[in-house]
Amino acid sequence: MSFEYAPAPESRAVVSIKPKYGHFIGGKFVAGSKHFPTINPATEEVLSQIALAGKAEVDAAVKAARKAYVGTWSKMSGKERGKYLYRIARIMQERAREFAVLETLDNGKPIRESRDTDIPLAAAHFFYHAGWADKLEYAGLGTSPKPLGVAGQIIPWNFPLLMLAWKVAPALAAGNTVVLKPAESTSLTALLFAEVCQQAELPAGVVNIVTGDGSTGALIVNHPGIDKIAFTGSTEVGKIIARAVAPTKKSVTLELGGKAANIVFDDAPIDETVEGIVNGIFFNQGHVCCAGSRLLLQENVAEEVLHKLKNRMEKIRVGDPMDKNTDVGAINSKEQLAKITELAAAGDAEGAERWSPACNLPAKGFWFAPTIFTGVTQAHRIAREEIFGPVLSVLTFRTPQEAIEKANNTPFGLSAGIWSEKGSRTLWASQQLRAGVIWANTFNKFDPTSPFGGYKESGWGREGGRHGLSAYLKGVSHE
Ligand code: NDP
Repeated sequence: MSFEYAPAPESRAVVSIKPKYGHFIGGKFVAGSKHFPTINPATEEVLSQIALAGKAEVDAAVKAARKAYVGTWSKMSGKERGKYLYRIARIMQERAREFAVLETLDNGKPIRESRDTDIPLAAAHFFYHAGWADKLEYAGLGTSPKPLGVAGQIIPWNFPLLMLAWKVAPALAAGNTVVLKPAESTSLTALLFAEVCQQAELPAGVVNIVTGDGSTGALIVNHPGIDKIAFTGSTEVGKIIARAVAPTKKSVTLELGGKAANIVFDDAPIDETVEGIVNGIFFNQGHVCCAGSRLLLQENVAEEVLHKLKNRMEKIRVGDPMDKNTDVGAINSKEQLAKITELAAAGDAEGAERWSPACNLPAKGFWFAPTIFTGVTQAHRIAREEIFGPVLSVLTFRTPQEAIEKANNTPFGLSAGIWSEKGSRTLWASQQLRAGVIWANTFNKFDPTSPFGGYKESGWGREGGRHGLSAYLKGVSHE
């Protein structure tokens, strides 16, 4: 017997969205010249008009960041900087509900995820780095670590506020000032964060936020007044950035794509594993760089796992992201939906077998049902390319060695999962896997103290932990 869930919608009364936004430069909101709409991907409702920064605005932001760096922030003691970071973290906690609702409206992710994952983790990053601000000389990164200067930071749309926190918190703790550009489709929580900076009385120019599209990002990357570029996004744009900064003295960290293998050995606890598989690929609609998008099943348990997985997927609730019961929300944009649809069609065309549970997708907005493909081979596009959506490619293997070879057969190397009851097998497999983050009997666990980053085309450098801090300090190895 199963029970129907009554709707449990979160109220949007807690947020007030302005009809039009400008940029946040030198501690003030300044009007933009051109604007573009930002929409709620679950309803296609226009939420607001976002400013598109051109050369003049990026110049002004870099100038404000330099002035704050030279005049205030780099001269301030770590203890004082730490106080501001604590203050920001506490205000984020106080305004957590407002942030969560705004994130869900602008991004399409379920309110349960923005409320329980994105916003608490974003605040945790500020708390964690607040603690480092006055202890940099004890971090094992040299006796007198020095900031780099002005950091240009470009972030994607999948975890808008969390990616901002990953970038801004370590930069500020280490004594840098920043110019940050959120993704074009998800600028609203970054603009609310600008209000938090004002509320915390952060000195003017320490954080500057310019909104815009890829052209604004390129202006930041190529700006001569910037000392460091921190980017999270596609491998394609990461390569453009790497080429642009190669002939300059800019430091760079790149957090790019992934095609993680989630490996299930025949001694794995199957019920827990099924939960981990679901979390690994359907969390945040699969818009996760470290998503477990390739499921590798040992042949003798494949049938059982697939049977249980399909049963579990029948119970996934897809729909209104503002409903507290929703598991999978809307795809972030029409463009991303087109990309997922095209890659899934390639899976059909190449002979893999598609399966989705029956689900009533809303008529308006951008939606894609949770999907698995079986009979996938390593040559298929859906086994090689990042889909960045709720689509799982299932492959099988006979021996542990075969699992490792298949798992490593990718240009990416961001994350991997291992499901096994044996510690020795888990340790052996994790030593063979070429991935920056490896989870054992769990998936998609994040913590500010733990470094995150990839091998190969998944990027350069680490974010989080002591390693992430080092990427914002002079003369420290970034690995
Ligand atoms: P992008 O890499 O294009 O976007 C990431 C950020 O970079 C955005 O803020 C974007 O601006 C900005 N940007 C775009 N072009 C440039 C440029 N030439 N110079 C500097 N900055 C630039 O990712 P998309 O949003 O286009 O997504 C495409 C694919 O990338 C997805 O389908 C997914 O596979 C992958 N992706 C991976 C992510 C990850 O975390 N690894 C995150 C997001 C996407 P704007 O969006 O405003 O145009």
